Amino acid sequence: MDRLPETTGLRDEIIIQRPHLTAYTHALRLAGAKLVEVGYLGFPGQGMTWPWQIEAAITARTAAIAYSFGNAPGVVPLAAVVAIAHRHGVPVIVDAAAALPPVENLRALIAAGADLVAFSGGKAIGGPQASGILVGRAALIASVALQHQDMDVYPETWTWRGRYLESGVLPGPPHHGIGRPMKVGKEEIVGLVVALRRFLARDHAAEREAQRRQLETIIVALADVRGVEAAHMNERTFPRPYPTACVRIDEMIIGRSVEAIINALIDGEPAIAVSQNFLHERAIGLVASVLRPGEEVTVAERLRTVLSECGHST
Ligand SMILES: *Cc1c(COP(=O)(O)O)cnc(C)c1O
Repeated sequence: MDRLPETTGLRDEIIIQRPHLTAYTHALRLAGAKLVEVGYLGFPGQGMTWPWQIEAAITARTAAIAYSFGNAPGVVPLAAVVAIAHRHGVPVIVDAAAALPPVENLRALIAAGADLVAFSGGKAIGGPQASGILVGRAALIASVALQHQDMDVYPETWTWRGRYLESGVLPGPPHHGIGRPMKVGKEEIVGLVVALRRFLARDHAAEREAQRRQLETIIVALADVRGVEAAHMNERTFPRPYPTACVRIDEMIIGRSVEAIINALIDGEPAIAVSQNFLHERAIGLVASVLRPGEEVTVAERLRTVLSECGHST
């Protein structure tokens, strides 16, 4: 703990299936781990990860196997990864930041055997942006807690001396470990607990339906704008746990690029942030998860204005 992120000679390899590499896997390397990538890209076909590839990558230096929750094509599913990992005494760490909703995932991934699961506190739960929930095996959670201690104490005065020093688990109290730059304030903890209680108490099905209706209002409002085609994303072909609308834009007719439209929306009054997950299809995405009742009318009006600014509206 005192040496991190220097890991020479330690178990410092984390195995990860290539389709699970995201910009967020940077966080796995933060403590000094090296990623060992396995699997082929290019699903469907033979572009997939095979269970034996994961097993063959496990060595005496393997610290964990990482798993990113999501619909990455061609990956070995969580339960199978867990079976391989546990055969070799290696923990499985799941990035479940975006796994909510559905609310059932708060327990399902642990039930599937994952050893550590991290949820974002600031996404679907709606808690503080700088918070998250880490669940899993008690010993691993305790290890994470110890890396976060920010203490000016002595062995004789550490309140956990019985648990960690007298038991011989640690030679001395940890001080300002690798978790120190990520320390969690009591404001975040309280905010997250309150947000989690509210999240669990919500009627998720009714909320989903209400969001769908809000998006419907926007879709209807754009129906007569030339060069614009707005529609709900088909939940069968575009599996998302929350309603999403896609607004396809004919840039020739509208007379400005999708990027310019996104910038005009965020720079406008009120600022409107749209999903950029459809940029490659020359479209903008709409998600209603943070819209208050009635705000969809404002969004629809603003969209009509921005999309008609070049005078092509009917
Ligand atoms: C959003 C996200 C994160 C980061 O979550 P934060 O709460 O913003 O730290 C990590 N991994 C994945 C897959 C995500 O979608």
